[in-house]
Amino acid sequence: MPKFVYDFTEGNKDLKDLLGGKGANLAEMTNLGLPVPPGFTITAEACRHYLAHGTLPAGLADEVNTHLAALESAMGKRLGQSDDPLLVSVRSGAKFSMPGMMETVLNVGLNDESVHGLAAQAGDERFAWDSYRRLIQMFGKTVLDVDGDLFEDAIEDVKRARGTDSDGDLTADDFKELVGRFKAIVKEQAGRSFPTDPREQMDLAVEAVFNSWNAPRAILYRRQERIPVDLGTAVNICSMVFGNMGLDSGTGVAFTRDPASGQQGIYGDYLQNAQGEDVVAGIRNTVPLTELERIDKASYDRLLEIMETLENHYRDMCDIEFTIERGKLWMLQTRVGKRTAAAAFRIACQLFDQGLIDMDEAARRVTGDQLAQLMFPRFASKVDGVTKLTKGMNASPGAAVGKAVFTSPRAVELAERGEDVILVRRETNPDDLAGMVAAKGVLTSRGGKTSHAAVVARGMGKTCVCGAEELDVDVKDGYFTAPGGVTVREGDVISIDGSSGDVYLGEVPVEDSPVVRYFEGERSEGDGDDLVSAVHRVMEHADARARLHVRANCDTPEDAARARRFGAAGIGLCRTEHMFLGDRRQLVEQLILAEDDEGRKAALDALEPLQKQDFEGIFEAMDGLPVTIRLIDPPLHEFLPDITELSVKVALAGDAADAKDRKLLEAVTRLHEQNPMLGLRGVRLGLVIPGLFGMQVRAIAEAAAARRRAGGDPRPEIMIPLVGAVQELEAVRDEARGILAEVAEASGVDVPALIGTMIELPRAALTAGQIAEAAEFFSFGTNDLTQTTWGFSRDDVEAAFFSQYLELGIFGVSPFETLDREGVGRLIRIAVEEGRRARPDLHLGICGEHGGDPDSVHFCHEAGLDYVSCSPFRIPVARLEAGRAAI
Ligand code: ADP
Ligand code: MG
Ligand code: MG
Repeated sequence: MPKFVYDFTEGNKDLKDLLGGKGANLAEMTNLGLPVPPGFTITAEACRHYLAHGTLPAGLADEVNTHLAALESAMGKRLGQSDDPLLVSVRSGAKFSMPGMMETVLNVGLNDESVHGLAAQAGDERFAWDSYRRLIQMFGKTVLDVDGDLFEDAIEDVKRARGTDSDGDLTADDFKELVGRFKAIVKEQAGRSFPTDPREQMDLAVEAVFNSWNAPRAILYRRQERIPVDLGTAVNICSMVFGNMGLDSGTGVAFTRDPASGQQGIYGDYLQNAQGEDVVAGIRNTVPLTELERIDKASYDRLLEIMETLENHYRDMCDIEFTIERGKLWMLQTRVGKRTAAAAFRIACQLFDQGLIDMDEAARRVTGDQLAQLMFPRFASKVDGVTKLTKGMNASPGAAVGKAVFTSPRAVELAERGEDVILVRRETNPDDLAGMVAAKGVLTSRGGKTSHAAVVARGMGKTCVCGAEELDVDVKDGYFTAPGGVTVREGDVISIDGSSGDVYLGEVPVEDSPVVRYFEGERSEGDGDDLVSAVHRVMEHADARARLHVRANCDTPEDAARARRFGAAGIGLCRTEHMFLGDRRQLVEQLILAEDDEGRKAALDALEPLQKQDFEGIFEAMDGLPVTIRLIDPPLHEFLPDITELSVKVALAGDAADAKDRKLLEAVTRLHEQNPMLGLRGVRLGLVIPGLFGMQVRAIAEAAAARRRAGGDPRPEIMIPLVGAVQELEAVRDEARGILAEVAEASGVDVPALIGTMIELPRAALTAGQIAEAAEFFSFGTNDLTQTTWGFSRDDVEAAFFSQYLELGIFGVSPFETLDREGVGRLIRIAVEEGRRARPDLHLGICGEHGGDPDSVHFCHEAGLDYVSCSPFRIPVARLEAGRAAI
C-alpha cells in the first residue's frame, strides 16, 4: 500500500507531485534546519483516491493517527487538549498554486474548553477568544459553506455597538460574544452545530480540502491554465504559531527580490499582532517589511539571513510567508516566486553573475512568451488625467487606445472614417467578427481566457482584455459603468492593456519597448538599461546553443531589412501574391481575361519586369542569405472584383453595361468556387494557367543575375505551393529548370536556385519519399497543413466554435496557435523521415505561423528540422526558443 502521510522531516522539494508545492517546500525548509512549525502532509494520491471513490483510502486514518500522535508527543500536548491545546492549521496545497481552491483553516482544535486552556497558557484571554472566533469563521466558510458576509456583518455589528471601526479595539468579551453569534450563524446556515471534537474538526477540514479540488472556480482556473484535471491536492497539517499574541508578534510576506523589476532588496509587508490571512485580506494597513528592523531587529536579521539561505538553496528568487510569535520567527511557506517578464530576465542574469546558475540555466529560466511580452508596445507608466477604471484578464497582449463603441457595425463605421476604436461588449460572438477586425482592441466584461473574445483576439494578434467583471456593459444604450460611479459612453476614449488587464479612462500614451529598440539596433546592450543588457546576454547564449536557424516570413525589402536586424538567417517564406495587387491588378485581370496565348503573353510580359524589381530589392536586403520565394498561391478570383458587387453593377446598368464588366463578370462567375481553399490554387494554377509560374521563375532568375552582376550574392530558392503529388512538382520543376538555364545562358551569369515544395497537404506528407525525389527542400506550411489535417477552415471555425472546443477541453490550445503534435506533428515526422531517406541532404523548414510559437519551435527542434520561419517581429522569440530547445 502506498504511503499516504509524510512528516515534514520526510519530504523534500522534488516531491511536488505527491506533497504539493506547499508541502514539498515545507519539508525542504524543515530539512534545511529552518524554523518551520512541525507537521505532516497527506498526499495528493490520497486525494485522488478520495475523488475517484468518494471514500478515504484504507489505511489513511491509521497513518494520520500515527503522525498526529508523533506530532503531539513532539509538542508535548494533544490536539485540542483542554488545559494546553495543540492547535493546527489545515492547508491545501496542490502541485500548482490555484486560486479558487479551499483556503486554509487555522486554529483547528479550539472549542469551548480548550479556549480557556489557550488563554491560560498564553496569559491572554483576548487572544484566545479572537483565535476561536477565527476558527469558527474560517471553518464555517470553507468547510460548511456558510456565506462569509454573515460573519463579517456580525463583526461590524459588534464594532458599531462598541463605537469603533477597528478590530484592534475589540476586547476579550467582544470576541466571546462573536463566538456565540458565529456558532448561531453556523447552526442556522449549515443545519448543524459547529463540531467541538478537535479530531472531527480536523478530519472534516481535510475532506473539505479534497472536495475543493472540484470547486467550480478551481475547475475553471485549471482549464484556463491548462493544468491537468486529475492531479488532486495534498493537505498540510501544521502546528499553529501565533502572530496575534500582542505587539511583539506579527505576520508577513516577503520576496527575496522585487518580483516586478527583479532588483535586489527587501520587498514585503508586515502586520503586527495579526494572524495569517490578515496581511493578504487587507483588513488592516500593513507596514513595509523594512520597518520590521525597527520593530524587532533580531527577527529582522534572522529573516534576512533565512532569505539568503533560501535563495542560495533554491538558486532562485523565492517568496515566503512568516510569522513572529513573541519574538520568535517561524517560516510558514516558501516557493520559487512568480515574477514579471522583465524581472525574469534580470534575475536570471543576476543569479549567473552571483555564480548560482550557469547560462544554460539562465536561458531555461526565461521563456519566449516573456520575451514577446517585453516586445509589445506599452503604456507610458505615469500619466496625469487618466483614471484606472478596473482590471480584467490579460487575454491578448498589447496596448490599445480608442473610442469606446458597443456594436460591431459601429466599430466598422468609425474605423472606416479613420478613427481608432475599442470594441466593448459583455461578451463577443461570431457576429462581432467584423467589429473585432476593425477595432484596435477588444474589452469584455464576461468570460475568461478561453472565451470567444480572447480566442479570436489572440488569433488576430489583437489586444484584448476580457472578463472585466466590475464593468456593467449596456450595449443597447451604448455605455458602461465602472466602479466609483464612472460612466463611459460611446465615443469616450479608453485605453486597455492586454498584457496586464488594466483598463483606463482617457488616452494613455503608448511607447515603444526598449527591447524592440535594442533589436532594431537603436540601443546597445551597454547603455545602462540592465533589462536590455540581460536580454542581450540571454539571446547571445541562446544563439550559440541553437541548432535550428530562424528565418523570416516577409515579402518587402523593408521587412527583410528589419528581419535581418532582428537576427533572421534568411527568408523562409516570401509570398508573391501581394505583388499582384494595387495597380498591377489590371494586369492580372488582363491575364485572366486573355482569350488567346498572345493576350496572355502580353499580360505576363508586362508583369515580369515588375516582379523582377520586387525580387531584386529583396535579394539585396537579404544579400548572402537564402530567400525562399513561393510562387503564386491564392485562387485567382482574389484578384478580381467581388462577384456580388459586380453582378449588381452589371444588372443595374442593364443594356448599357460596360462590355469589359460583362466579360469580367463571366470570368468571375467561371472562377467562382464553393470552397476556394481547396480549389484552383497553388501548383494547380501553375499547371492550368500556362506561363504564370514561368514568368515568376524568369523574374527570379533575372533578378538574381542582375544582383550577381552588381556584385551581390543572391541565394534564391523557388518554392511550389500546395503540391499533393510528385507529378505536379515534376512538371513545374522541369519548366523552371528550363527557364533557369535559359536565363543563365542569355545573361552569362549562372545563379543556382534550389527548387523545392511546401508540404501542406496530408497526401504530400504521406508521399514525401516520392516528392523528395523531385524537391531539394521541404517547407512545412503548417497553417494549411493544420486546416487540411483537421478539416478546419481557419477563417470559419475560429470565430464559430473554437471557444466552445476549448471549454469542452477538445484541445487545450488552438491548433492554429500551437502545432498539434499528435496529428499534424505526426505527418511532419513521417515526411521528415521519408523525405530524408529519399534525399539525405534534403533541407527542411517550417513556414506556418507556428514558426514563432514557443512550443512549436521545440517540436521543430525535436523533429530535426533545419529552420523555422516566422513573422519578423517573432524572430527574437523563435531564436530564444530555438536555443532553449537545444539546452
Ligand atoms: P494560502 O495558500 O492561501 O497562502 P496558507 O496555507 O499558506 O494558504 O495559509 C493562509 C495563511 O495562514 C498564511 O498567511 C499562512 O502563513 C497562515 N498560516 C498557515 N498555517 C499556519 C500556522 N500553522 N500557524 C500560523 N499561521 C499559519
Ligand atoms: Mg500561503
Ligand atoms: Mg498554404
